[in-house]
Amino acid sequence: MTPEIEMSEEIGFCPGVRRAIAMAKDVARQRGGIETLGPLVHNQPVLQKLARLGVRVVNCPDDITGGAVVISAHGVSPEQQAEIQQRHIDIIDTTCPIVHQAQLAARRLARAGFFIIIYGDANHPEVKGILGWANGKGIATLNKNAISHLEPPPPQLGILAQTTQIPDRFTEFVRQITEASLSRETKLRTVDTICRHIKKRQAATVKLATRSNLMLVIGSHHSANTARLLQLCSHITKTHLIETASQIESHWLAGKDHIGVTAGASTDAETIREVMMKLSAVS
Ligand code: SF4
Repeated sequence: MTPEIEMSEEIGFCPGVRRAIAMAKDVARQRGGIETLGPLVHNQPVLQKLARLGVRVVNCPDDITGGAVVISAHGVSPEQQAEIQQRHIDIIDTTCPIVHQAQLAARRLARAGFFIIIYGDANHPEVKGILGWANGKGIATLNKNAISHLEPPPPQLGILAQTTQIPDRFTEFVRQITEASLSRETKLRTVDTICRHIKKRQAATVKLATRSNLMLVIGSHHSANTARLLQLCSHITKTHLIETASQIESHWLAGKDHIGVTAGASTDAETIREVMMKLSAVS
């Protein structure tokens, strides 16, 4: 039996990643190399290709050796921006415009006196950056009970989401926070900051997973949006996360008649093509 192999309708770089990579490549070409503050994308094959063009990763402003640095699509806090500028280092800012909308929403709400709750991973650079725009007046959490530990209870709560979260889970989080806030008469304001491209990608992936008996998600363990695709698919059908075609194990395909392929927003077209070719060859 030859399985049908179907690729998700929404695959390849998202607009924010495509833009960040194009900007970094341009500047690397012009300057003969460039450093990025943190990895430009959470995807090893893409970082290796960028490294061959002279795009190198530094982990903190202290490590910047050149006169310019690239900020990734995840963005940074205003404090970190200022720290770089004080060193007279030029910033090539590739912050995704959709992430910037979330940063501005955090700043607006914080200035209006709201305590910010970001539904997201507190250790993710995008989330840290957004919190920085709230001037430290907030927290990031995935735990609906987090607000019950806030003392004194903030009279006004502004709720945002990491741009790569799953919309239904954010809605449920907001519902639970709303319920918990009722007895405290807390004023709530919610801004849906989940990226529209991520919503489309997740919806297309779920549709594909429901008609597949095996899903392959291409991307990195470190990529937040890839992790969400993996979570969504794993609830529907047998799913494996792979970073490259070489990680496909032929026994996964035994007895499967419909194999779906999806990928995180920072997985490049070449890697996707290699996976499709390998699947055709081994099935
Ligand atoms: S996933 Fe959305 S928010 Fe994130 S970089 Fe891509 S387009 Fe921007």
